[in-house]
Amino acid sequence: MKKYSVRCLDCGTECDCYAIACMNDGALLRTEYSSVQLIPRDFPGIWKFYEWLPTQGILPELGGGSITYKCGSFAAELGLDKLYIAFNGYWPDRKALLSTCSFKDLEAAPTVQRLAEQRMKNILVVASAGNTARAFAHACSVSGQPLVIVVPASALNKIWLPGDDVSHDAVFTISVKGDYSDAIALGDELACYSGFVAEGGARNVARRDGMGTVMLEATLTLKQIPDYYFQAVGSGTGGISAWEASMRLIKDGRFGRKMPVLNLAQNLPCAPIFSSLHGVAIDPRCPEGMYDEVLFNRRPPLSVKGGVADALTATAGTVQGVTNDEAEEARKLFEKTEGIDIVPAAAVAVSALMKSVTSGSVNARDIVLLNITGGGEKRLRKDVGVTPLQSDLSVERFGVDLDSTVSIIVDTLRKG
Ligand SMILES: *Cc1c(COP(=O)(O)O)cnc(C)c1O
Repeated sequence: MKKYSVRCLDCGTECDCYAIACMNDGALLRTEYSSVQLIPRDFPGIWKFYEWLPTQGILPELGGGSITYKCGSFAAELGLDKLYIAFNGYWPDRKALLSTCSFKDLEAAPTVQRLAEQRMKNILVVASAGNTARAFAHACSVSGQPLVIVVPASALNKIWLPGDDVSHDAVFTISVKGDYSDAIALGDELACYSGFVAEGGARNVARRDGMGTVMLEATLTLKQIPDYYFQAVGSGTGGISAWEASMRLIKDGRFGRKMPVLNLAQNLPCAPIFSSLHGVAIDPRCPEGMYDEVLFNRRPPLSVKGGVADALTATAGTVQGVTNDEAEEARKLFEKTEGIDIVPAAAVAVSALMKSVTSGSVNARDIVLLNITGGGEKRLRKDVGVTPLQSDLSVERFGVDLDSTVSIIVDTLRKG
């Protein structure tokens, strides 16, 4: 029997298993696994969920995964009895070993494995405001998959590989003088060239099912699906993933039948999902001044079939706005009580939880899962060091000579 198939959520057509779009409409595709029950495998990290990942093999070198623990000190501060932390980052004491310290590592591993399976030898294109590029740079360096990352020049300091002086011959870095949207635009243009392939973002089922392992790991630890799921979002893909994973867990039958309520958080005033749901305008200066620019996505998959709006409706979910000051206060409290550094985006989710407790929408006895989407970067820098990536090519936001850029990339990566 086939391990999985990929189906369009609108017309129901079964698509090629590597497709990122349906030929008939614009809906998201979703994976259907032949294994209805979640049977963990004896593989490292994320590959434990091999049965529910759209791959035909594993990359054991990318052996990190999400971990879940019952929260003590921070939960006590909030007066919560059953707060669980899904920690996605580097925290060796808790066996959290994600190589680039965010849950983007969970998306990169299955995506890169699928490219290896396809044997097309295409160059992968990833446009990113930071964490995604870092995760893919690592995954591709480890597996030898050629990669072009396109990042805003201001985000270049976020691009590093774990370890001192590690080689990165498979990675070509382009810095764009502009913001994340400019990087995306250039990435899209490059991906149109033959020999290049786009990673697909929220449309890529490997990214979603990879992120979905956060909910799978937590549910195995809790032995039941949580009541609430808190996460900071930019595109909202993590929210869609948590919903999809929950649907599979409900079908499994052993973990309860109740959907977790999605509680998504964005950083005000640069909060496009929050703004479009609550009818408030986005400050034109955004993403300038944000607490964490990885949470800014101008075109989130909100109203597409199977997207964020559907996920919120199906889970009776909400989106909260969090200011910089609120996030900073939350970060300090979490880091002090839990003893690990977290990335700014994760603090936005921590704050959303604190606000929900204050407002009474979450109660002491509720089973709450808080996704710390990134953390332990300070710890990793101290323990194993990092190698910053320099830009191989720096371009202006407009008027890039695409043909010559493509030949520079191809020549450089071929030599590597
Ligand atoms: C990407 C990212 C998010 C937001 O993820 P979505 O794709 O919107 O679900 C949150 N936190 C961190 C650390 C991230 O890197």
